[in-house]
Amino acid sequence: MPHKKRLEYLNRKLRGIVQHAYKHSVAFRGKMDSVDLKPKDIQTLKDLQKLPVTKKSDLVELQKKHPPFGGFEAVPIQKLRRIYVSPGPIYEPGETDYEEIAWAQAMVAGGFRPGDIAINTFNYHMVPFALHMVDNTLHRIGCITVPTGVGNTEQQVHILKNLKANAFCGTPSFLLNLAEKAEEMGLDPRKDLTLRVGFVAAEMLPESLRSNLEERFQMTIRQSYGTADIGCLGYECTEKNGMHLPEDKIVEIVDPETGKQLPAGQPGEIVATTFNKVYPLIRFGTGDLSLLTDAPCPCGRTSSRLVRILGRVDQMTKVRGLFIHPGQADEIGARHPQIGRYQVVVTRKENKDEMTFRMELKEEVSPIEKLKEEIERSVRDVMKLRGGVEFVPRGTILEGAKKIEDQRTWD
Ligand SMILES: [Zn+2]
Repeated sequence: MPHKKRLEYLNRKLRGIVQHAYKHSVAFRGKMDSVDLKPKDIQTLKDLQKLPVTKKSDLVELQKKHPPFGGFEAVPIQKLRRIYVSPGPIYEPGETDYEEIAWAQAMVAGGFRPGDIAINTFNYHMVPFALHMVDNTLHRIGCITVPTGVGNTEQQVHILKNLKANAFCGTPSFLLNLAEKAEEMGLDPRKDLTLRVGFVAAEMLPESLRSNLEERFQMTIRQSYGTADIGCLGYECTEKNGMHLPEDKIVEIVDPETGKQLPAGQPGEIVATTFNKVYPLIRFGTGDLSLLTDAPCPCGRTSSRLVRILGRVDQMTKVRGLFIHPGQADEIGARHPQIGRYQVVVTRKENKDEMTFRMELKEEVSPIEKLKEEIERSVRDVMKLRGGVEFVPRGTILEGAKKIEDQRTWD
């Protein structure tokens, strides 16, 4: 669909879901009332900016106030087929007919075809992803599902072999477990197993891990991005250059402070609106950071793409009036292969913000001054800010430490 037609289509769907949710969802009506809006005030995607963003982190509290779904559901509980439970706990209503097409677009774009035999190694218990979203979608596109769930690695290798399964759904780290287990069992994953395509989600997929797995199994691996409540919000095509937005969602990138939409190329929070009539989430903040591109994709799809996920909003911060985010720290790290772990520390001295890029080196470097200058230049290039560079002994930066550590105190 050309851009203009797509916009008309989304505006029409938006008007429909706003009318529906206003009539049937207590929480959505409350959200509209809080800013004195009526459904007629929301005609286009631009009008969405009049509505506050509901943060996912607020959902637990909202659900306590109006159990079990916070009033976001638009049908009586008796009309549901299932109720899912995500960590929080957050309760999610599961409709009888799963109508979302976004995961189907994701799988087909990644090479899944009717007749494929897929092991679904996502966790089937409690959460909606494996059963509700992935299982239903595999059925929808004509694939045969083996509902293996997580774990039982050795048994799963036997299943792959015996059933000649050719498709994998799961996390990249579990696929790696399967490769290692198969090799431990004396099998060559490339020759003895028949995996051809992989649909991975729920974890970051470093390129080094992707190429390792693609090579080891001789398969194609494509990743998708989404959340348990909103579903798919982006998927890779064969071209592997960012994640296409699905057709049945509205995805905005917004300034986390003001909620205003940002143009393509500018990083901000991913905010989504679904057209789900049972659970219409309108302007939901995911807490994840990304940026969009409208550049044409050689695959022929005309949708915008999320360039990549840049980290969490709560780690995005303003230094001397400019936003910095974890994705920039990663970009600096990637430019210099000598760098091991790294972290950006923001402090305040004599009423001025100071920023330091701290890092551990993988091995001794000499002369160190030259590398220091190069990294300082990268910090300036990537963050558009001047910052110090500090080398620290290995083991100083803990695994899983925040990429951006804001140590400023305000009085
Ligand atoms: Zn594409």
